[in-house]
Amino acid sequence: MTAEVRVRIAPSPTGDPHVGTAYIALFNYVFAKKHGGKFILRIEDTDQTRSRPEWETMIQQALRWTGVSWDEGPDVGGPYGPYRQSERTEIYRKHCNELMEKGAAYPCFCTSERLEQLRRDQLRRKVSPGYDGRCRGLTAEEVAAKHAEKLPYTVRLKIPKEGATTFVDRLRGEVTIENHQVDDQVLLKSDGFPTYHLANVVDDHLMKITHVMRAEEWITSTPKHVLLYKAFGWDAPEWIHMPLLRNQDKSKISKRKNPVSINFYKQAGFLPEALLNYLAMMGWTMPDAREKFTVAEMIESFTLDRMSLGGPVFDVKKLTWLNGLYIREMTPAELVRRIRETVLTDEKLLAVMPLVHERIEKLEDFVDHSVFFFNGDVPYDGEMAAAMVPKGQSAKSTLTALEAVLELIDAVPEIHPEPMEASLRATADKIGWKAKDLFMPVRVAVTGRKATPPLFTTMEVLGKERCRRRLRNAIAQLKVQAEAEPQVVAPAPAPAS
Ligand code: GLU
Repeated sequence: MTAEVRVRIAPSPTGDPHVGTAYIALFNYVFAKKHGGKFILRIEDTDQTRSRPEWETMIQQALRWTGVSWDEGPDVGGPYGPYRQSERTEIYRKHCNELMEKGAAYPCFCTSERLEQLRRDQLRRKVSPGYDGRCRGLTAEEVAAKHAEKLPYTVRLKIPKEGATTFVDRLRGEVTIENHQVDDQVLLKSDGFPTYHLANVVDDHLMKITHVMRAEEWITSTPKHVLLYKAFGWDAPEWIHMPLLRNQDKSKISKRKNPVSINFYKQAGFLPEALLNYLAMMGWTMPDAREKFTVAEMIESFTLDRMSLGGPVFDVKKLTWLNGLYIREMTPAELVRRIRETVLTDEKLLAVMPLVHERIEKLEDFVDHSVFFFNGDVPYDGEMAAAMVPKGQSAKSTLTALEAVLELIDAVPEIHPEPMEASLRATADKIGWKAKDLFMPVRVAVTGRKATPPLFTTMEVLGKERCRRRLRNAIAQLKVQAEAEPQVVAPAPAPAS
């Protein structure tokens, strides 16, 4: 390779840091190191409604925890910044205007109502949905008149009607798609923000990315990107689409079927080196096929031809096994150090202490009173299982209620007592439950106990990952209980007021 290898990951800060991001980050990092190149972190936060700075911070912290580090990025800077797309909107607008001037893109004044109607008609007629090109042929005068009226517009890429677009994926070979199958992609939204496609291509070009190594799910976007490079007159990077991590049933890995937050693994005491080793194994095999290896060893032996194209199944049990190998190799002193850095930090002890302080008469009492703040899953034995279902409710209605609570927790970067309490009260209201009837199953689910320190501070100190993991377990347990219970237990829920 002649030019310096430059690769990137481009996560969108719209939720918990995902293991899939760590997986793609690892391969980009290894590829960069192998070739003496640079690995860049770019934050794709142009989706104004879903992006949050807290998610971005969490993504950066979680990636740092894995040990994968970047040479350029929003926190460390670099020669091609800014590395956060929301700070680059002028650049995208300028490039979009250039395309319009060249006639490679056009303003589209169609309203969202018209597009919705169009989509419905197409569905009804069983033709594949897509823009019908109404604004593609507007004359300069018509466009000027609409601008004079100050009508809102988007900008679309003029995809050639004829021919086909071909690109080479380094793992799959040539991929060809007929151009008529590609929609006139929106590049700039009516709020002036770019779409993923425009921002991604402009940035990859300006940041001199030589290889786009990303998840396979983006392969359907690549023809649009190739056409965009062509419209700009730029050389496209090389394409490497990585096999997606999958659930046991081979569907794309999802939080319904697997813990997907990197923070789950961190909180549960997986070692970052074991997690990276496992993620490496998901997409690649060592020349000698051994399963346990370090990132440095991976860099040493890395070649693209050892990438596997099958859908790798992410199996927490296997990861746990691998993690155990790492743990057993450590000296007791090393293990003590790791435990003090993760499970038993001063910070954690100091957060728990005020919650149990009053109940402690001898120092040893601390252990019994606080164990559920530190351990993993808590059992729901007969008594707890019964306590989880409030009077007048069934296992089935309780599990639906807990699913709603789980969703609330999923949606926030971290648990803060007051807003969490307010959301739980609102949920109780919505489902026609008394708040305390909802608090009890949540309390039992997250602690395995009926009597605990105040629920919401307890949840804050337990942390988001521990709470959701236990709620998931409680929901699974309630499913079993629900199957065994007679059908008519639940009274009709009171209407929401
Ligand atoms: N923002 C996209 C994501 O969230 C980036 C995809 C790409 O690498 O092009 O994964």
